[in-house]
Amino acid sequence: MGVPAARIVFDEDDRTAVAEAVTEILSTGMLTLGPWTERFEQAFAAEHGASHAVAVSTGTAALEVVLRTLGVRDRDVVVPAVTFYATAGAVLHAGGRPVPADVEASTFALSAATVEAALTPSTAAVVLVHVGGLITPEVDAVRRLCDERGIALVEDAAHAHGSSFGGRAAGTFGLAGAFSFYPTKVVTSGEGGMILTESPDLRDEARIYRDQGKGSFATNHHIRFGGSWRLSELNAAVGTVHLRRLKEFVESRRRVARRYDTALAAVDGLQPLTEPDGCRGNYYKYVLLLPPGTDRARFKREVAEDFGVRLAGEVYDLPLHEQPVLAPYRGGPLPVAEDVCARHVCLPVHTDMTEDEIDQVVGAVSQVHRRLAG
Ligand SMILES: *Cc1c(COP(=O)(O)O)cnc(C)c1O
Repeated sequence: MGVPAARIVFDEDDRTAVAEAVTEILSTGMLTLGPWTERFEQAFAAEHGASHAVAVSTGTAALEVVLRTLGVRDRDVVVPAVTFYATAGAVLHAGGRPVPADVEASTFALSAATVEAALTPSTAAVVLVHVGGLITPEVDAVRRLCDERGIALVEDAAHAHGSSFGGRAAGTFGLAGAFSFYPTKVVTSGEGGMILTESPDLRDEARIYRDQGKGSFATNHHIRFGGSWRLSELNAAVGTVHLRRLKEFVESRRRVARRYDTALAAVDGLQPLTEPDGCRGNYYKYVLLLPPGTDRARFKREVAEDFGVRLAGEVYDLPLHEQPVLAPYRGGPLPVAEDVCARHVCLPVHTDMTEDEIDQVVGAVSQVHRRLAG
């Protein structure tokens, strides 16, 4: 039996709970902005110790809505070069200019120093991304730098449901945090997104933006350039049911990660991203750096063909500033981002992974590594 790159788990209880919710939603006819959206928001805020949550249609919409509430039009927004296209796409959709900054090899995240190097007189915001669900120990220094300069800190926490640093949950370090419930994420609603914030003003503005910029649900007065960014009640019900599993999912993913850590410590030359002191990650991704010069395509092919282990896609195989559509925002070389994008792989982590599967992955990766290292 092979090991797939990803597996989405809704057990029988969860499927029954979703089916019941869907029946209820269809009978009442409350299909959007109803009680399930509110339930999902409250549960998600409580899970992360946040005061307010606003559910939206996607993680990208969550970022765009936050950036629109901050007002980044014609201004610069610092983003890490190691992130998903959507982090920069949301900045562009909100009318801002993404400025890719370099990252640290130990976390794939921005640091105060790399942010500082990317600041301009026109910087409106910094978006910190918790790659793979790890939160960088630099988070406090980045926050301080932003506070000193009067710049907004936003978290793209699309990878980081339930992750924490110093006991504080992802999504609560800046003015707002944006989460995604795309199917591959640790918790999914099919499609969906969530904004966390301590600011009642930002919450109110976000609610306006997500519903076409309407001043209130009942009127047709449009007071902002909003969008159609509501979450349907059906998706909210799926997300609410799945969210109940978050703690258990994080526990099981961490158990897999600890097994990988132990097994790979014995293999010279393979270098997993390790959890920084104070961080408790959700292991959305288990990231492994291969030695410089390794032929990654061949590594992945041999792991799949000879051992049946499918490695997930890289977190990002191209840094943001090398994405064709972002060419106008390319800027200077960002050597750490370029290096880590070129030579990492992600090991499969499933919430229901078996011991056999873990052994199979470790065996495959270490044997192919030895083979390629000659
Ligand atoms: C998934 C993801 C997003 C976008 O979320 P969608 O729900 O797909 O719009 C944004 N940023 C990062 C880092 C992501 O991984």
